[in-house]
Amino acid sequence: MTPISAPPAAPSRIQGLRCRECGTNTPLGAKYVCEECYGPLEVVYDYDVIRRMMTRETVEKGPRSIWRYLPLLPVSESCIVTLQEGCTPLVAAPRLGKELGLRNLWIKNDAVNPTYSFKDRVVACAVSRAKEFGFETISCASTGNLGCSVAAFGGVGGMRAVVFIPADLEPSKITGIGAYGPTLIAIDGNYDDVNRLCAEISATRPWAFVNINLRPFYSEGSKTLGFEVAEQLGWRAPDHVVVPIASGSLLCKVKKGLQELETLGLIGPVNTRFSGAQAVGCAPVASAFLENRDEIRPVRPETIAKSLAIGNPADGPYALDIIRKTGGGAAAVTDEEVIRGMKLLARTEGIFTETAGGVTVATVAALARSGKIGPDELTVAYITGNGYKTQEAIIPTLAKPPVIRASVAEVDRVLSGA
Ligand SMILES: *Cc1c(COP(=O)(O)O)cnc(C)c1O
Ligand SMILES: [Zn+2]
Repeated sequence: MTPISAPPAAPSRIQGLRCRECGTNTPLGAKYVCEECYGPLEVVYDYDVIRRMMTRETVEKGPRSIWRYLPLLPVSESCIVTLQEGCTPLVAAPRLGKELGLRNLWIKNDAVNPTYSFKDRVVACAVSRAKEFGFETISCASTGNLGCSVAAFGGVGGMRAVVFIPADLEPSKITGIGAYGPTLIAIDGNYDDVNRLCAEISATRPWAFVNINLRPFYSEGSKTLGFEVAEQLGWRAPDHVVVPIASGSLLCKVKKGLQELETLGLIGPVNTRFSGAQAVGCAPVASAFLENRDEIRPVRPETIAKSLAIGNPADGPYALDIIRKTGGGAAAVTDEEVIRGMKLLARTEGIFTETAGGVTVATVAALARSGKIGPDELTVAYITGNGYKTQEAIIPTLAKPPVIRASVAEVDRVLSGA
């Protein structure tokens, strides 16, 4: 569907959209599939133009948000809608590394974005682009985090936000969405059902669905997790990254981000190995890798890692290809390992992540054990969401604090274990 008003001319650094399968070019627009072959579309840039406007210095002088990389994002400066997302900490993780036998482990802590997940990066791009196209309603099919972000950015961008979720989402995510005041609709079904429904709605209503008709623009926001890590490491690519996989888009775009910096001469050659993290109850990409299959078999998700519970991942085949070609690995971890991973990261590095982060930590542990991650590789684990959103997952595993009278003797009694 076309938006209400005509979009302004795109900056010359953005050339249009191109099919990732057959390479057919098409002008910029709110579309996501190739008219020739139904392949996915991707934004194409003119790197010769960008090279003249973007240096390490211009980036370092830019805003402390994803918009310091504006030349590589599919938005005009005048249309940016922002909550100062991005520029999250990259921290050395020596205590976690010691537990796992890794001497050069880093955590990219994206749990501290404005709505507490990495989705603020992608939604900032999609909402800004939707405004630029002239849309008045922003919508999405969400596993939780995306809905929080769409609701928040819709409000700030002065747009109507309509969020669709599976009805069995974690209560804190439903609250986290509702607080921003969107129209929130829960569907009796899983994420893949919600996504199918939204694809149907997007064909009939003039709405911008961030992860459907705006998907080519939305997904570009994930590149900033590649840009930032390279800049924070002093303009170099890591040796190994471990990335959680839902649709597979994040993993693909971290790769694209690093490659673009190489293309622009901002970092040296990229030899980063890419490893994917999934939960046993929803591991279509990891199991294809581990069973050495090319085809991704859709699954019916059954895991506490609900933000990764996409049974039929749109970018799964591309993510699998990157994992293989870069010499990375994958793991499918159990819900018990997820909880252990959440607690281990909190205890060792002071970062409370959601279940998706537990999947990532558990995957790092598994790949370190098997020798897939070398002990001295500069490894970055992407922690993409905040633990306060999935409290119900760990509440049953935490001891209730003793309640005592305010007396020193009572404290002594409790501390002595009596
Ligand atoms: C959405 C999400 C991901 C991964 O998303 P992709 O669909 O693979 O791009 C990872 N972690 C969290 C917390 C998420 O919400
Ligand atoms: Zn095509």
